Amino acid sequence: MSTTQRSEGMNAFFDEFINSTTTLQQFVVQYDNALHSKVEKECEANFASANTTLPCGSQSFIERQFQDEYTHAKFGEVQNELTCKINCNIKSVEVHGGKAKYIVKEALIWKDQSADKYNEVIFDLVTKDIECTCWLFEFRGVLCCHSLMVLALEDVKFVSQKYILS
Ligand SMILES: [Zn+2]
Repeated sequence: MSTTQRSEGMNAFFDEFINSTTTLQQFVVQYDNALHSKVEKECEANFASANTTLPCGSQSFIERQFQDEYTHAKFGEVQNELTCKINCNIKSVEVHGGKAKYIVKEALIWKDQSADKYNEVIFDLVTKDIECTCWLFEFRGVLCCHSLMVLALEDVKFVSQKYILS
């Protein structure tokens, strides 16, 4: 709970289960209840996702891979990243030892001001592995718009199964 982001995540997790007057003993019981509730919600989401299909917004096979595998909520995150590709531009490419290093500029607006961000995407030309300095995949399990842009440029039709989390 050390960072704001994590703390907000924890608040949402415990929202309906604890408050400022909860004792430590009650917390232990409520922690268990919160976990059960979370599992139940995940099961409901899986069931709803298994019985309906969200439409793809692009002609990308990669999007179809995630459409088949992910719940609606997680697929929505992938679609959001695909949409954000429109804000990205490749600023430079260097190839060394079988790896391509892309500098991707993402146009962002913060408080009516331009707040562009630059990320470095490393693409392995042999294994097709990809990583980005924004670390979205490592933190949220979703390939970022920067990586998706590079994969499209490199003509990768399908991502490795390791980028599709169970
Ligand atoms: Zn990224």
